[in-house]
Amino acid sequence: MGVPRFWREIPSRYNLIGVKCGNCNKILFPPRFICPHCRRTGKLEPYKLKPKGKVLSYTVIHVAAQGFERMVPYILGIIELEDGPRIMAQITDCDEKEINIGDEVEIIFRKMGEEGKEGVIYYGFKARKIPKS
Ligand SMILES: [Zn+2]
Repeated sequence: MGVPRFWREIPSRYNLIGVKCGNCNKILFPPRFICPHCRRTGKLEPYKLKPKGKVLSYTVIHVAAQGFERMVPYILGIIELEDGPRIMAQITDCDEKEINIGDEVEIIFRKMGEEGKEGVIYYGFKARKIPKS
């Protein structure tokens, strides 16, 4: 539980890298080896997704996984990225009263937690509301 969902501190991972199918142009995130639509006929190329999306739904989490107790309560949202894929991400820097379905968010990278005595720090993506101008 936990760790595999979070990315290590590797600069190349500070982006949303998915794949794009050369056959149907669908963008897949997280990356896959085979396009679920085209099977083997689709050739997949790495694709950098735009770090923008909107809130499809959200829920407030009051019970944290072990090691993440300091985070609660927090807002977990399903974000539809501009490029199409949907991701689950914590909505950060705002109160549950401030977030609404359809709000625009940007995807940012934030420290998610620290592990053990080596102090390995894990980063993951979170969503932050874009203030309406
Ligand atoms: Zn395809």
